[in-house]
Amino acid sequence: MASLPKREEIICLFDVDGTLTMPRNKIIPTTEEFLLTKVKQVATIGLVGGSDFKKIAEQMGGADVINKFEYVFAENGLVAYKNGHMIGKMSIQEHVGEEKLQKFINYALGYMSKLTLPVKRGTFIEFRDGLVNVCPVGRSCSQAERDQFAEYDKEHRIRENFVKELQAQFPDLGLVFSIGGQISFDVFPKGWDKTFALSFVEKDSFKEIHFFGDKTAPGGNDHEIYEDSRTIGHKVTSPEDTIAQLKTLLHL
Ligand SMILES: [Mg+2]
Repeated sequence: MASLPKREEIICLFDVDGTLTMPRNKIIPTTEEFLLTKVKQVATIGLVGGSDFKKIAEQMGGADVINKFEYVFAENGLVAYKNGHMIGKMSIQEHVGEEKLQKFINYALGYMSKLTLPVKRGTFIEFRDGLVNVCPVGRSCSQAERDQFAEYDKEHRIRENFVKELQAQFPDLGLVFSIGGQISFDVFPKGWDKTFALSFVEKDSFKEIHFFGDKTAPGGNDHEIYEDSRTIGHKVTSPEDTIAQLKTLLHL
């Protein structure tokens, strides 16, 4: 059996939602314990989430997550922490400019105002540091309404068609679209997908960069980093699957 690189030479990066936690849920204690006591012994560990830091902290058991994981990348790495300290922060507002952004947001709101869905709630556009999140059902929906939309979306391709329309309307803004989770999609400048996080990790000359994610297919928010030549990609189906694959990979 080939020996593994030293823990300073190998990093395991994890998507959060669907990879370390069940969708929208908090990490369960046994998963956390496995990562922090077993995996962290033999590899450097980091998170690459699409959500903002607040949501990642919520799912990962508190803001202390920046001290438990050596790297924490929120919003695909546009907000970056290393060893408990912030090391980077990007802003879509500065990058794209308010005028163009507002045209885009107005168009998206107009489009959503014409959609009829099983239910509609509030917060259809959420502005984050590094991306704009667009949510046809509205982010303030309940878990049941969220599940209901996810089912409806599978059948009627609401998000997919919406994204196609936005791409056609705004071909020159340099924006890309990523459908992730159950109810929304993210809009951000090209290159600001999860591979953005690699620009930080790359500097630390790891011999192996592993990435674990559940949305690795084209259009999914793990796709680019999963396919990137700098990473070894692992497609997972659940937190249990992540643990099983880690046991094999790291001989745990
Ligand atoms: Mg995921």
